[in-house]
This record gives sequence, structure tokens and C-alpha cells, in this order.
Amino acid sequence: MPCIVCAHVGDKQVSRTEAHHVKTRGSGGGDDTAVCICTRHHKHFHLIGRKTFATRYGIDLMVEAKALYKLFQAVGWGVDGPPEAA
Ligand SMILES: [Zn+2]
Ligand SMILES: [Zn+2]
Repeated sequence: MPCIVCAHVGDKQVSRTEAHHVKTRGSGGGDDTAVCICTRHHKHFHLIGRKTFATRYGIDLMVEAKALYKLFQAVGWGVDGPPEAA
């Protein structure tokens, strides 16, 4: 999965992506609140915080997560990619 930030700003993605859970599973979040983000941008996000990040990149991860989840539902994928082939 491409990094949501790199793809948005047209950056060349250099590191692998991981899932950032906007809301943790413990607080009721699930795949509907997760986004794919590269290690570099993920670190940056936690460093500057959601608000600054949204302003800096024009991306609100919470909004993106919801949009992404709709997409995943449409294609039957989870946030980590397609389901394992049976
Ligand atoms: Zn990135
Ligand atoms: Zn995170």
C-alpha cells in the first residue's frame, strides 16, 4: 500500500508503510480508523500532532481513514492489503 501522505503530496516514497490507527482498537477503533503511512511520515505525524500535520500537508488522517475504509469495503480488503488467498 502506498503512503497516504507521499501519494498526496507527490513525494517519492522511500520507506515501507505501516498502519496508523487514528483511534486505537482499545478505544473502539478498528480498520475503519486506520491509514497506510510510511515510517518517515508516521514518525513526523506523532512528532507534530494531528492538527499541525493536517495543516502542513492538507491531510486530516481521520477523514482519510474513513474514506479509505469505504474503499476497502468496496474491494473487500483490510487495511493491510488483500485478504490471504485461500
Ligand atoms: Zn510518506
Ligand atoms: Zn501512529
